[in-house]
Amino acid sequence: MSYLDANATEPVRPAALAAAVAAMQAAGNPSSVHAAGRAARRVLEEAREMLAARFGAAPADLVFTSGGTEADAWAVRTLGRGRRVIVGATEHDAVRAAAPAGVEVLPVNRDGIADLAALRRMLAAGPPALVCLMLANNETGTIQPIAEAAALCRAADALLHVDAVQAAGRIAVALGDLGADTLALSSHKIGGPAGAGALLIGPRAAAIAPLIAGGGQERGRRGGTPPLPAIAGFAAAAREAAGAAALAPLRDAVEEAAVAAGAVVIGAGAPRLPNTTCLALPGVRAETQVIALDLSGVAVSAGAACSSGKVARSHVLDAMGLGALAGEAIRVSLPWSATEADVAAFAAAYRTVAARLSRPAA
Ligand code: PLP
Repeated sequence: MSYLDANATEPVRPAALAAAVAAMQAAGNPSSVHAAGRAARRVLEEAREMLAARFGAAPADLVFTSGGTEADAWAVRTLGRGRRVIVGATEHDAVRAAAPAGVEVLPVNRDGIADLAALRRMLAAGPPALVCLMLANNETGTIQPIAEAAALCRAADALLHVDAVQAAGRIAVALGDLGADTLALSSHKIGGPAGAGALLIGPRAAAIAPLIAGGGQERGRRGGTPPLPAIAGFAAAAREAAGAAALAPLRDAVEEAAVAAGAVVIGAGAPRLPNTTCLALPGVRAETQVIALDLSGVAVSAGAACSSGKVARSHVLDAMGLGALAGEAIRVSLPWSATEADVAAFAAAYRTVAARLSRPAA
């Protein structure tokens, strides 16, 4: 099997697995005062320090969550209270589902880049807002101009929440450099175990209310016993996930093979993650391509896979104004472990699928 669906979840990195297993074998709740508790606390705080340094925040400004969805929901639901909420048209459902009724949608261009002139107008048109703009899109890899958006937000007294779940570990991500007020991360998207994530909280959002109250963990900001194995694995994965630039030549080879077989690269005009490509094959439904590739031993995905396993039409590609192509695009996302053999397997399988299923050029 060639696993080319890293944006769904990265294969766990060996160092992350080892750290998670070691943490699981040690008894102790980080809130306990005895020696076992203090040892667990050390694991927790070392992970916090490592991750905070890696993503440009102070340790006290990193709060562990159960994953990216919780980090997004926390920021949107609490910072959005009493503010207008403006959400990028291609945001992940973790953000969209947490947005209140009356949410305003920021349009994107055909490459998926947010329209900053529209953002400026929207910010000027009413009281202070919470703006949610992702750093990199999960379906296309398109990278948003976050620093520019942050400057507009600051000038308009708006807060900016950045979903960096797909960008982390692949391109540079630093809370302060981006100018974000909050930033969401997820362990399993960088090769750590599922079940941990984090919200980084900048000074302008320091008063954020908890989404989950409880036993006072995380300095009262997030209740619940922290999942130490997942957190230890998260930190170990972050130590190793130092950028995906080395995957760019493999991604380019995937695109070359697909284009030669008739594909259109979506978002090709935008800066994109080095591991991700979104490929439309005119006239062939995305699900059909995914199933045919799977039968050939190549795992990719189509649009946003729902938890039901069904494929929903992609709101991301619809927002980019791609018309019928929106239902005909697959995502190929290379994991840290991808090899040239994976690319060769994809190229051979894709050629066969395209030759068998695509309509002849008009
Ligand atoms: N944000 C983005 C951009 C994602 O791609 C995902 C997962 O696919 C999430 C948030 C949710 O993260 P998690 O799976 O950790 O809840």
